[in-house]
Amino acid sequence: MEENQEKIFPAEGELSGKVALVTGAGRGIGRSIALALGGKGALVVVNYNGSGERALEVVEEIRSRGGSGEAVGCDVSDFEACGRMSEEIIRKYGRIDILVNNAGITRDNLVMRMSEAEYDLVLDTNLKGAFNTIRHLSRYFLKQRWGRIINLTSVSGVAGNAGQANYAASKAGLIGLTKSVAKELAGRGVCVNAVAPGFMDTEMTRKLTDRVRENILGAIPMGRMGSPEDVASLVAFLAGAGAGYITGQVICVDGGMAM
Ligand code: NDP
Repeated sequence: MEENQEKIFPAEGELSGKVALVTGAGRGIGRSIALALGGKGALVVVNYNGSGERALEVVEEIRSRGGSGEAVGCDVSDFEACGRMSEEIIRKYGRIDILVNNAGITRDNLVMRMSEAEYDLVLDTNLKGAFNTIRHLSRYFLKQRWGRIINLTSVSGVAGNAGQANYAASKAGLIGLTKSVAKELAGRGVCVNAVAPGFMDTEMTRKLTDRVRENILGAIPMGRMGSPEDVASLVAFLAGAGAGYITGQVICVDGGMAM
């Protein structure tokens, strides 16, 4: 590690000396993941698209707990912009160790009413967004012969969901992307996994009507929504040394919803 990097990285923690990029980390599940990785000592690049102020607050929170990081704006659906963000990370820190593709959106509608724009926007953000970061960063992971890529899929991608043809297709696509990239990178010590949350309490699910929420809650054996921290603790584990023999897996964090 270069001398200036010794000053940048915190001294202690399982992920000390590692650089993590978390997309869509200004709020929701991404925010909790960024805090969890920062808390384990990683330098966290907190990506945002529209939530710049909130991303800066996340960085402040990481710093206040003794960690380090910075906020970087980039629309993950933009291939060229992801290339610039990736180059900037490598130029500044010389490495990338952990990539968490968390950015995601919904545009729910029944398939017979779904517009082409609703379909394209969700696929471009959720699925192509993950391809974009992996495409630009995988060469560095290969060179380092160590890495963790964690893609946020969904129980909707595993089981399908009425009203979410676009979203479920994007999340099922992420599972195929995860397994294919896992096979390509496994020989170089890079683990690639997908985490599938069920029904978590974030701004994404607060948009749902009370009736829909009641129906979903009825399908969860544990009888409650999950929290962003429930997802973050699994992601932090998958990012660490203890998960070095786990790759190509889809792990549900869903209170038993998909079993
Ligand atoms: P939120 O709606 O609370 O947050 C979405 C995040 O995605 C925001 O940080 C947003 O950034 C970011 N984002 C959206 N579009 C872009 C883009 N083009 N470029 C960069 N960032 C973008 O969602 P959650 O926290 O609930 O969800 C996080 C992930 O978990 C998503 O992939 C979601 O599909 C998945 N998930 C969530 C579930 C849930 O129940 N909540 C269930 C299953 C999966 P900004 O605000 O800066 O635009």
